[in-house]
Order: sequence, then C-alpha cells, then structure tokens
Amino acid sequence: MPELPEVETIRRQLQRLIVGKKIREVKVSLPKMVKLPLNDFRKIIIGGTIKRVGRRAKILIIELSSTRALVKGGDKALSSSTGWSLLIHLKLSGRLIFRKKGEKLGPEDIKWNHLIYYFSDDSRLFHNDLRQFGYVKLVKSGELLDFFKKEKLGPEPLEKKFTLAEFSAILKKKPKAKIKQFLLDQQNLTGIGNIYSDEILFFSGVHPLKRVHELKPSEIKKVFEGIRKILPEAIRFGGSSVRDFLDALGREGGYVPNLKVYGREGEKCSRCKAIIKRIKIGSRSAHFCPKCQK
Ligand SMILES: [Zn+2]
Repeated sequence: MPELPEVETIRRQLQRLIVGKKIREVKVSLPKMVKLPLNDFRKIIIGGTIKRVGRRAKILIIELSSTRALVKGGDKALSSSTGWSLLIHLKLSGRLIFRKKGEKLGPEDIKWNHLIYYFSDDSRLFHNDLRQFGYVKLVKSGELLDFFKKEKLGPEPLEKKFTLAEFSAILKKKPKAKIKQFLLDQQNLTGIGNIYSDEILFFSGVHPLKRVHELKPSEIKKVFEGIRKILPEAIRFGGSSVRDFLDALGREGGYVPNLKVYGREGEKCSRCKAIIKRIKIGSRSAHFCPKCQK
C-alpha cells in the first residue's frame, strides 16, 4: 500500500502538473469506486478547475474551484471556499498517472483503468487500481476539517506542530500496544504503513514486539527521530516501489535500495551482519535485525 512518502510524491507531482487545469470530461468504468451517485459526481466535477492538491494521511485532496453545479444554484456570493474537493484514496494498489496531450500511453495507462479525467488542454489523469480497493469521494472544501475529524485520524507526523512531547503523549494512551502495531494505527499517527514502520524501528534499535510501556525515554526519542528522518528521506527518493507503486509520471520510486530491513528477510544486516528476520504480528509482518533491535 502506498504510504505517506508515496502519496506525498504523487501529491507534489500533481500540484505541479494539474493545478489550473479544467476538467472537461470524466470517464468512469468502475462505478463502485465512486462513493456518490455518478450523475452527481459528473455534474460537480465537470467544468471544475483544479486549485490545489493537498494530502491528509494517505488521502489525496484535489481542491476544485466552484463549478457549474454551484453556478446553477445562482448564489453569486458563494466564494471559492464553497467549492468541492475530490478525495482519492489509493488503498492497496491504486495509481494516478498523468499524461500530456499526445503523450504515448504505457501499459499502466491501459490496464485496470477505472477512471480517466480529461482536462481541457487534452492532458489526462488515469486512476487505475488492480485490486479495486481505492475510492473517490467528494466533500465540500469548507467541510474537510469535519470530514477528517470523523475519520478519527491521528496527527501528521511531518508537521512542525507534531513534537516529541505530543508523540510521547499519544504513546501514553496505548501502553500495552506493541510498538509496530502502534505505528501502523492511523488513529495514533497517520501515513506510516508496513514498510516505514519496519525502517523506523530498525533506525531506532527498537524490537517491533516491544510494548509501548516498556520503551525508555531515550527509545521514544529515537523512534520519533526515525519518523522525522526516514519519511522525508523516502519522499526525496520518490517513495518505494515494492509492489505496484508508480508515481504520477508512471515511474518507480527510488527508495527500495535504501530499505535496511523491509523485504530483506534472510539477508545480512547492513550494521552488524546478523540475519534479518521476519515475524507475523497479527495480519501484518515485521522485518527486523534480532541483534540491533532489542
Ligand atoms: Zn543488525
């Protein structure tokens, strides 16, 4: 599943590629991915112009300017803040791939394409999803805060206001949780999945099965530092393509060679040469070095 670095990579690319473009048409071939009646969906987004591409947790937020649907309502006083936002969750295997006018399509633009957005300059955005768990929703931009509040999402780990003190306070609420599972739970903090939780714990020298209440203050600090080091590093490399991930230009992310434990079961630890192990924790698995992580 794309995690924070992968979704943020796509966000930054889309911010550069599609802001200012007007949606001329949308083709939906898998209606179940759109979480509202298709007629309403089309009415709201066709004619809309992309204002901004944001992100909350692993959800992309494509903010649209007021569209025909609002103009038809006749309320001239409606400001752009009453426009709609298109929320896109890529879930396990979703991709958003942008192609300019006349640009040749790769195989990834043709297979499993469930939604295609056509812009007025004839560029296109393809939403494809092999496993079909992803979704598209529309929320009024002015109601986004309420929407995310209802989703009960934890804080954004890369925001300045997310501090070591706040991280410690959140840990205190779940003393019995295993740290690996704690990091995966989006209600604690957002954006971290299987890949980066393994890497963060390797960086901090903390065993994935360790319970939160067993962590020393120095270990909590190290985990916090790991979050703040590894996520931005992975963004700089355009994320990790471990299974299906491709960025908005259809390219693979470059972070995989930097992964120290994830996907390296049976290989030698880069730090101490012990053999990397993989264990099951609930329905997930954790990769770790039994010597470096205590
Ligand atoms: Zn090691």
